[in-house]
Amino acid sequence: MTQPNRKPLLAGNWKMHLDLKGSVELVRALLKDLPADGREVLVAPPFTALSVVAEVLKGTPIRLGAQNLHWEEKGAFTGEVSGGQLKDAGCSAVIIGHSERRQFFGETDATVAKRVRAALKAGLVPILCIGETLDERESQRTWRVLETQLQGGLEGFTAPELATLVVAYEPVWAIGTGKTATQGQAQDAHLFIRKTLAKMLGEGFAAGVRILYGGSVKPDNVDGLMSEPDVDGALVGGASLKAADFARIIKFQIPARR
Ligand code: PEP
Repeated sequence: MTQPNRKPLLAGNWKMHLDLKGSVELVRALLKDLPADGREVLVAPPFTALSVVAEVLKGTPIRLGAQNLHWEEKGAFTGEVSGGQLKDAGCSAVIIGHSERRQFFGETDATVAKRVRAALKAGLVPILCIGETLDERESQRTWRVLETQLQGGLEGFTAPELATLVVAYEPVWAIGTGKTATQGQAQDAHLFIRKTLAKMLGEGFAAGVRILYGGSVKPDNVDGLMSEPDVDGALVGGASLKAADFARIIKFQIPARR
């Protein structure tokens, strides 16, 4: 279970799903089924639904996030959205470097770093996604990949600049596949990430940074994953589109230790 200084964060990535009506219905249903407190909840709808969802979430404990941002503040960048525009739409966080962006849209560690800088400048919490493919895991390259993605995506930053950073460990082979990392695999990777961040940015920084697990998190595996000491929350794709499932994930319970 996460340390007391790391409040659990349960974030839903809606990807390219839901129209405006469906988006509003989903957050309304979630709001009816929220646990009291002690955990932070965030939803990241598609850009088109941000404003309407922001309206429903006003004055509630659920925070709004976006799924990407461009690194420039404004200009002739057809199809792009800036950090300032996301803030204006009501966002407080943004997902950066998701494996689908890396795989399908040419995202690199260098562009990830630019987006992290832009997010911080706009006052958005960057949720930096990293993770290895199946091939990389099977050829024993997991640690090297995670280290490279952290070093590249956070190049040139100081610990104080990254005070709000959240990292999401998302093994690519577990995203949308129904294959979840075992608790042990998740804990090993999270510990490795924390140790790498300690080397890069100091022990104090690493002890406080939240590391989420993402990859087929469901109501029936969230309790086990959240019971691991370095798992501070979850980034949830498919299961965040069903109010009852995401609500159960938010209400994770740590099994008592014997
Ligand atoms: C994701 O897209 O970040 C994700 C973890 O998806 P899923 O939960 O569907 O595997």
